[in-house]
Amino acid sequence: MKISSITCPHCGASYEVAESLSAAGRPGRAECTICGAFLADWREPRLRAFRLIVAPENKYPRVPPSPPA
Ligand SMILES: [Zn+2]
Repeated sequence: MKISSITCPHCGASYEVAESLSAAGRPGRAECTICGAFLADWREPRLRAFRLIVAPENKYPRVPPSPPA
């Protein structure tokens, strides 16, 4: 598992990105759950999970957080 971080260029929310180096996934893209801005995309068949770790100050999510899996 490779861990990195990414910050939304639009609202400043910070995300932790967990990328599996062994589990198969699929190409995809990620969008900010706060503002919907494009965050990243990838063409490799990798499994990536984006987790919001720091919400932007003075802003609140328009959608409620997902229930724990
Ligand atoms: Zn955002």
